[in-house]
Amino acid sequence: MLLASRADAFSHAVQNSHNLTLVLERDIQRSIDLYDLSLRAVSEGAGDRQVMALPTALRNRVLFDRAATARYLGSITLRTTNGTLLANSSRMPPTHDDYRTTGSLLADFQRTSGGLYIGRPAQLPLERGTQIIPLARAVFSPEGQLLGSVEGSLSLEYFKALTFGLSIGEHGSVVIAETDGTLIARLPDSPTNIGKNFAKTSVFHGLMAGPEGYFVDTARIDGVRRLYVYRRLAGLPLIVSVAPSLSVVYAEWWERVRWFGILILIFTVIKATGTLLFVRELRRRQHAEALLERMAHRDSLTGLENRGTFDEVLEREWKRARRDEKELCLLFIDIDRFKAYNDHYGHQAGDVALRSVAKQIFACVDRRGDHVARYGGEEFVVILPNTNEAGAILIAERIRSAIVNLSIAHSQTPTGFLTVSIGVSSATATNMACAEDLVNAADAALYQAKGLGRNCISMVKNFEPALRS
Ligand code: GH3
Ligand code: MG
Ligand code: MG
Repeated sequence: MLLASRADAFSHAVQNSHNLTLVLERDIQRSIDLYDLSLRAVSEGAGDRQVMALPTALRNRVLFDRAATARYLGSITLRTTNGTLLANSSRMPPTHDDYRTTGSLLADFQRTSGGLYIGRPAQLPLERGTQIIPLARAVFSPEGQLLGSVEGSLSLEYFKALTFGLSIGEHGSVVIAETDGTLIARLPDSPTNIGKNFAKTSVFHGLMAGPEGYFVDTARIDGVRRLYVYRRLAGLPLIVSVAPSLSVVYAEWWERVRWFGILILIFTVIKATGTLLFVRELRRRQHAEALLERMAHRDSLTGLENRGTFDEVLEREWKRARRDEKELCLLFIDIDRFKAYNDHYGHQAGDVALRSVAKQIFACVDRRGDHVARYGGEEFVVILPNTNEAGAILIAERIRSAIVNLSIAHSQTPTGFLTVSIGVSSATATNMACAEDLVNAADAALYQAKGLGRNCISMVKNFEPALRS
């Protein structure tokens, strides 16, 4: 939307400036046409032998009868080809005299092929400071022979007055220049630059690019970046350019951008704050949920999986083992004489010992699929999927000796250290019907290990679920 309105602002400025160049062109053209009419009348009269044969006063009246007089139009003079002054519309102030040699004027006539000749801006020799544009026409005999010239002038003040008061915004400019790059009038007024040639500047190159058009460039005169809308005056060696400064062209648009920017900023801040708060709340919830999840699945004292998780995992592993026809083993670990330990060392010390034992058991089990859980009290279970009897016994032994190596003093046992008894059970494809049997077998084996004197590993061969009771 902003980009579209920026383009709109630009094309609006182009349109306005274009209209202004059109109005300026028409005014200039009308003034010059009017003057040219006078020059033509004098030229026609001067080409008429009968008129030229009249007494001087009468001849002058006939010649200059139709000569237009206006504020910015100079007097009209009639000269021969060698420059001799024949007549002057004496009512008007004396005009430029030797602004051009007759020779080059004749060459110019040939260039303009008998039409209106428009010269370069020049200074009137008698009236210092008054700059004019010479205008001239050739005088031909009825036979077509060049007899002389009719010369007049258009004061540059005219162009100045033309541009004066035009409102094109701050730093805008209106320029009237000749097609050779000579500056004729400028708004804002810059007297030192009038009459100077700007043919080599990039702006002037732009102005000469076509009969009309527009472009954006930076002026060498004042360094302002402007939109130049220009038009070459038909039939005249003049260019009119209206150039509002780009900052003015886009001023309103910038105002819109500012408001949009502020609104979008406010909106973004609100949205970003909302999003941040939302993300924070989400994180807080995620954290709480993770904690809850952990609390639901883990034992708070040891950090191991709890009984509920153990039941789920065992059921899952049991099914998997059946499906894959793999062996599944279970270790049931119980701390020996732990009641006595508690009684002797205190419950707090008991907790510390429980944690150490749990950590040690966990460290002894290294395969990813293995699970260690606290079954309850001072009892732990280890699920060993895809492990045979021999492997399970190996791990059980590793755990048992590791606990001994912890060297937790326990004066109430024969060894003097805290020990565990471990019951091992193993399910093959055929020997058990359900996961519960596996637990019962391990429990029975543990019971057997206790009976064998503790700090040992036991297994019940050919376990019959019914035997347990
Ligand atoms: P046994 O060698 O036959 O297993 O003897 P035991 O004393 O270990 O067996 P019993 O099952 O009688 O005692 C278990 C004790 O474990 C009872 C309780 O004081 C202790 N216990 C259970 N859970 C915790 C616990 O979370 N913290 C502490 N400090 N002690 C616990
Ligand atoms: Mg126990
Ligand atoms: Mg015990």
